[in-house]
Amino acid sequence: MRYCNKCLFPAVALTPITFDEEGACSGCRGAVHKKQIDWKQREKWFVELCEEYRGTGDYDCILPVSGGKDSYFAAHVCKKLGLRALMVTYHGNNYLPEGESNLFKMKDVFKFDHIIFHPSTDVLIKLNRLGLKIAGDMNWQNHCGIFTYPMQMAVKYKVPLVFWGDHGFTEQAGMFSHNDFFEYTAKDRHEHALHGFDWYDFVEDSEKLTKEDLRWAIYPEDEAVMKVGVRGIFLSNYFYYDGNLHARIAQESYGWETARRPFERTYRLISNLDDMHENGMHDYLKFVKVGYGRGTDHANYDIRLGLMTRDEGIQMVRKYDHVKSSDLRRWLDYVSMTEEEFDYISDSFRNERVWRIENGQWVKDNVWGTPSAYGPVYNKPSWAR
Ligand SMILES: [Zn+2]
Repeated sequence: MRYCNKCLFPAVALTPITFDEEGACSGCRGAVHKKQIDWKQREKWFVELCEEYRGTGDYDCILPVSGGKDSYFAAHVCKKLGLRALMVTYHGNNYLPEGESNLFKMKDVFKFDHIIFHPSTDVLIKLNRLGLKIAGDMNWQNHCGIFTYPMQMAVKYKVPLVFWGDHGFTEQAGMFSHNDFFEYTAKDRHEHALHGFDWYDFVEDSEKLTKEDLRWAIYPEDEAVMKVGVRGIFLSNYFYYDGNLHARIAQESYGWETARRPFERTYRLISNLDDMHENGMHDYLKFVKVGYGRGTDHANYDIRLGLMTRDEGIQMVRKYDHVKSSDLRRWLDYVSMTEEEFDYISDSFRNERVWRIENGQWVKDNVWGTPSAYGPVYNKPSWAR
């Protein structure tokens, strides 16, 4: 496996990644470019954009929020500009208590209206199970809800501007240039956020889910989107995105709370408080699929910010990426599944360019140079034979 010589990214990643002639990945190149941008100018362009749309809909903008540090930053920007934002949240039913408290108080500290949409718990449990089986991702429902429901609200309330935070594939892996000013589209949602799956893949006999159960997951028709003129703007094209800085602003100005307990799969306390499995077994699934997790992702951010050396980052990978976290037990109870079933299904998603079998063990290369074994290849369980 080839690794970036600046950060810790492997060539086979969930985000499309390329390397330059010096061995640096597209994410690291993007991070260098980010530091050269005239952000004051970008902010001016953003203000101009907002003025163009102010007062055209029932609200000035739609703000999809999870209650995280970046949500607080986006709301902070809207407040500073005096925009009347409508905050919209898809609630996947697995918030950490501190994450939920951060979410609920946004209406108080920012004084914006807030729609929080909770799908039926029964439907969510079925989607968790199916997400694992179909997409190798039990949190597929979360990605779908987060990237669909706010667009439904934009159409419903006739609000053209929807403000997203950063574009994940670009911040992590340099997929687009910040000079492209790319905007959110139905194609981007389907191919990247939803990994090529959509609600109709989940209308499924085994769980008896119907189209009626998944209304919130259906992207609005092109005609409706065009009639309102909805545009999904990524704030990271106009503001220098730095998670650590956003966490500091959220904490100091608005009393935002970090994780109360350390996570088992990352050293960061400021990310993904909106889902107790996101930094846990959901991320463990990523390790099973492609051989890295948030130890790598979070260290990459901090290496590029100059807060960590590459060697310190490697220690984070060694400590965190392979850990099978204890929240798995809670998730198995939530969806009524055995660990044997979970292991067997997740093994079926192992990427053959990453994993090989040696002496009955799953083996892969590592960023520190020598390969290791990461546990046994599970036998087909009795129910699957
Ligand atoms: Zn890199």
